[in-house]
Amino acid sequence: MIANVLVMIQKRSRTVIGAALLGCSFMTPQAALAADCPGNPNALGTSRTIVVDPKEHPRIGTMQYPETLPLADHEVVLTFDDGPLPKYSNQVLAILASQCVKATFFTIGSQARFNPEGVRKLIAAGHTVGTHSQNHPLTMNKMPLERVKQEVDDGIASTLAALNGDKSKLAPFFRIPGLMRAEIPEAYLASQGIQVWSADFPADDWRHISPQRVYDLAIQRIEAKHKGILLLHDIQPRTVAALPRILNTLKERGYRIVHVVPAKPDRPATPTEPQQWFMHPPTETVATTRWPRIPNFVFTATRMLPAPVFADLDWRDADILDHAQRARIGVPVRTAWPQPQVAQLAPVSTLPIPAADVFRVPEALDLTLLAARSATNRRLAQRAAAPAAGTPRAQAISARQARHPKQAAHQIPAAAHGKGRGGPMHVAPPAASNASIHVAKRTPRAEASAAGKRVQD
Ligand SMILES: [Zn+2]
Repeated sequence: MIANVLVMIQKRSRTVIGAALLGCSFMTPQAALAADCPGNPNALGTSRTIVVDPKEHPRIGTMQYPETLPLADHEVVLTFDDGPLPKYSNQVLAILASQCVKATFFTIGSQARFNPEGVRKLIAAGHTVGTHSQNHPLTMNKMPLERVKQEVDDGIASTLAALNGDKSKLAPFFRIPGLMRAEIPEAYLASQGIQVWSADFPADDWRHISPQRVYDLAIQRIEAKHKGILLLHDIQPRTVAALPRILNTLKERGYRIVHVVPAKPDRPATPTEPQQWFMHPPTETVATTRWPRIPNFVFTATRMLPAPVFADLDWRDADILDHAQRARIGVPVRTAWPQPQVAQLAPVSTLPIPAADVFRVPEALDLTLLAARSATNRRLAQRAAAPAAGTPRAQAISARQARHPKQAAHQIPAAAHGKGRGGPMHVAPPAASNASIHVAKRTPRAEASAAGKRVQD
């Protein structure tokens, strides 16, 4: 026990030493050190006992779940399913005793009913006993809740019956038969405070393979992960045959056996860090786990931001920058263009009617109605000016013009002048005004465009 405490002191930080010592003081004296193993000074032994709380870690075993037991490198937990079956279970017990190693057994209820003495032998030898259903159905993943309950509860009741109902001797550990996990059994077991044990590596000892193969698989898979829960069966002769060699090899290669017991009110769980429950916990050498954390922004502040000013919304700035960036050229110096004036809307809802002379064009200006040069208007003008006014087509055009007097009025000037090409045209003389001067300065293109006409180049 002293050595055990020293090991724990080495592994725990100073902040949890007290808790670790407290946990050790409540442990049952199950951790059998190799040096204390009677008759076998070279025994593998049990290096330490860990106390786990099923409520904190309801599912373990990396064959199926993210978490597994909080083992250190080269630590192995032995588990045996499907017993007790006297012929082989007793041999397994003897082998484990010879090496002073403690394991966890998952009993089948029906087996316990037939062999209650076998259950008591497991407890007497200091092993942990969990359950493995009543009848070992391989369909628990398809079962409705009621059948799951029945299998789980009956299995526990049968094993407890062998222990005279002493619940303190039975661990709230459960292994689903065939590892046929599903949400319904997992949820039910969790609701009962029962920990689901998968495994980290099997040895395929339920298959029809040789003991040598069982041994090879066990060692290969342990060596691949360096630590974890080994799944075996204490009802198989090949397991009995392979087990001594497995334990010897583990001893030779520096592995240590860890015993697992459930937490109780007077036996708190072994202090652990969350990452210890993962097969490959984050380390200092893995860059991604050391990446700076995202800052925790606080959005509760109600600081007011300044209202944007008009200059911030100048579309020309954004336009210039956008073009400059796309063209990969320097931003041009901004031209001192007149600033647009924000219209100051008068509080009145009506505007004065413009004076008639605003729209008057000076007589002397030689303006060109380029719009009349469009192909359509040119044709219409030619037809209208043609002497064969009595032809059906001309009549049709005349009728159309009658229906659309505006269009006809628009076409009449070109036709009347007989200049289908849209030559210069004199318009009515205007009175002198600012508007007329403004028009005089416009180019023909701008004028036509302002009149909504298409300009032909
Ligand atoms: Zn099984």
